[in-house]
Amino acid sequence: MECNKESVELMHKYLDGDLYKKEEEQLRAHLETCEACQHHFHELKRTITLIKSAEHFTAPMDFTQKVMDRLPTEKKRVTYMR
Ligand SMILES: [Zn+2]
Repeated sequence: MECNKESVELMHKYLDGDLYKKEEEQLRAHLETCEACQHHFHELKRTITLIKSAEHFTAPMDFTQKVMDRLPTEKKRVTYMR
């Protein structure tokens, strides 16, 4: 397998969930022997995780606003209870 072309293409397909079983095995076999691709694959997965958590964090803008609005009330109540 060609390192910086075919294997990277397979990585992207893998992360899209678009990989045939045979290709997945091919990719795994290559990753076991190629440190550069291991590193690249790790970075790709990390980026995707970051993007996903960012989406999760920024999506409910309204929710965040509601929490912020509620903060002073909550604080008061906590102080009062003490
Ligand atoms: Zn490689």
